[in-house]
Amino acid sequence: MDNLITGDLKNIEHLFPLEHFEFYHHDVTKFVHIPGKLDYILHFASPASPIDYLKIPIQTLKVGSLGTLNCLGLAKEKKATILVASTSEVYGDPLVHPQNEDYYGNVSPVGPRGVYDEAKRFMESITMAYHRFHGVDTRIARIFNTYGSRMRLNDGRVVPAFMGQALRGEDLTVFGDGKQTRSFCYIDDQIEGIYRLLMSDYTDPINIGNPDETTINEFAQEILDLTGKDLRIIHKPLPKDDPLQRQPDITRAKEILGWEPKVGRKEGLRKVYEYFLSLSPEELKQKEHRDFSGIS
Ligand code: UDP
Repeated sequence: MDNLITGDLKNIEHLFPLEHFEFYHHDVTKFVHIPGKLDYILHFASPASPIDYLKIPIQTLKVGSLGTLNCLGLAKEKKATILVASTSEVYGDPLVHPQNEDYYGNVSPVGPRGVYDEAKRFMESITMAYHRFHGVDTRIARIFNTYGSRMRLNDGRVVPAFMGQALRGEDLTVFGDGKQTRSFCYIDDQIEGIYRLLMSDYTDPINIGNPDETTINEFAQEILDLTGKDLRIIHKPLPKDDPLQRQPDITRAKEILGWEPKVGRKEGLRKVYEYFLSLSPEELKQKEHRDFSGIS
């Protein structure tokens, strides 16, 4: 189910021939009705890029709150297990490094990122309330920066942003002094972690991410090395409340899920770059297009 605000049907075209695949074009913040039995619900709906949620702040708040409420109601009704996609943004601009699940976070409720961070924090609260009060079988994954093929090149996140710039032969735009850090997880590793969590019986939040930390400056250089392009790295202002450091402590995931990431950044980035290289110029153009006008 997707209302396709930030998504794209082209990304799931290959799934339609599958016998057991169905797609509902629907906004999960509106009442959800699914006929028949449901075993598992995975609630991943939300814009996930700072640039997107600045453009659609109300939708971001609604999908994290009302959308989660609807999914939990559905899980209760169907006696289904539900996994919700929370985020490292619940830690805000963290004062503890690396971030473990017991850290309460440092989030501004009224800053530009508040619409995402607070919606996700509400998501965690209401998920625990449905678990404790209604006995719903719940899972909470705190997802750290994740990348993979099929991302929109203009979604604003740093991996597609730098890839898009390299592909178009533009300078790479590092925000601030570039000394801020992130830790990037390849999508296949992320999915394996999520799947193991879903199959476990663990109901407290759990970090899923790759602890291999890098500065954004180093990361920009890695993209230039990967693409072999002779481009400059230029600096732009750091967006407000941009976290200075981020690295998951995955001790819990290792112990409880027996999980840790396997794909290094070099290998993961190469796969993503090869995917973008395989697209035609027209397909690449489509990966840069998104029009949020008329969305209510
Ligand atoms: N960033 C950057 N240039 C860009 C896009 C992002 O330097 O063109 C920086 C951004 O300021 C942040 C980091 O890269 O420090 C990761 O940003 P992203 O939007 O991918 O995710 P975040 O972790 O901030 O939610």
